[in-house]
Amino acid sequence: MSATLIKGTEIREEILEEITAEVAEIKEKHGVVPGLVTILIGENPASMSYVTLKIKTAHRVGFTEVQDSQPVDISEEDLLALIDKYNNDESINGILVQLPLPKHIDEKKVLNAIDPDKDVDGFHPVNVGRLMIGGDEVKFPPCTPAGIQEMIVRAGVETSGAEVVVVGRSNIVGKPIANMMLQKGPGANSTVTIVHTRTKDLEGHCKGADILIVAAGVPGLVKPEWIKPGACVIDVGVNRVGEKISEKTGKKIAILKGDVDFDEAKEIAGYITPVPGGVGPMTITMLMKNTLKSLKLKLGIA
Ligand code: NAD
Repeated sequence: MSATLIKGTEIREEILEEITAEVAEIKEKHGVVPGLVTILIGENPASMSYVTLKIKTAHRVGFTEVQDSQPVDISEEDLLALIDKYNNDESINGILVQLPLPKHIDEKKVLNAIDPDKDVDGFHPVNVGRLMIGGDEVKFPPCTPAGIQEMIVRAGVETSGAEVVVVGRSNIVGKPIANMMLQKGPGANSTVTIVHTRTKDLEGHCKGADILIVAAGVPGLVKPEWIKPGACVIDVGVNRVGEKISEKTGKKIAILKGDVDFDEAKEIAGYITPVPGGVGPMTITMLMKNTLKSLKLKLGIA
């Protein structure tokens, strides 16, 4: 039997429509809309295309969007002053500094300079701490893990008491999603195991998972026979394994593969996310959700 596909592209549309409606309602009642600033340093093509997508999405949902592009040789001091300016700007609810930064700038120092109440990426140590505490303390869950949890919930997968295995322990995916799934509350209450490069029996752990979240960045790492029949498989991995000519544009595009052998895994799993079109579209969507939440917290209506 074939697994139910959890399509990020469809869930994204649902959530963006919900956000658009809420923004319109807030505008009518309170006369304000969320403001998001994206700070882009230099002209890294990948960063520029991410930022373009973020701007397009912010416009679509009715946010005020400020794009602040700075030269690659901006000093650390000037960048910190710019962040301070937006920290004190009443019309800005979310500040986003597009990574990576040029080598002469201390990334940690820059991210830590963002007001935690405007840190819609959820990477500031204060927000990491809030996530650890859980419950009402959580202001801005990091966007990719928040997207993963949203997909699991919207697919109707039971998380309470479920054995969740997370492959990968990065600060942006593995650790936060593991933390979120073990919290007390809806969409969580799971028993969580994190596995990584030093784990002795990766296969054995994966085989016990009711919900298997894979974020390793290794194409085809999880073999179909490691999947428990009926399990929910969330494949976060995005790996470029070659190039092809796009049928739509005639241009060269990357061939993307996840960390799970999708074709065979979908015959065993109960639910599965495709790559591309699975977790990928959720990250920017959740960034919009966090920015809206920032304004709602400010207005006291969150
Ligand atoms: P990372 O390299 O920071 O972390 C990978 C983790 O996987 C590490 O903790 C490592 O211990 C573990 N790992 C690697 N190889 C392993 C192996 N053979 N066995 C067991 N564990 C192993 O990567 P990341 O930033 O967490 O990203 C992981 C993947 O998710 C990448 O493919 C990345 O492109 C993708 N990603 C996608 C999105 C999105 O779709 N929105 C967002 C973030 C990351």
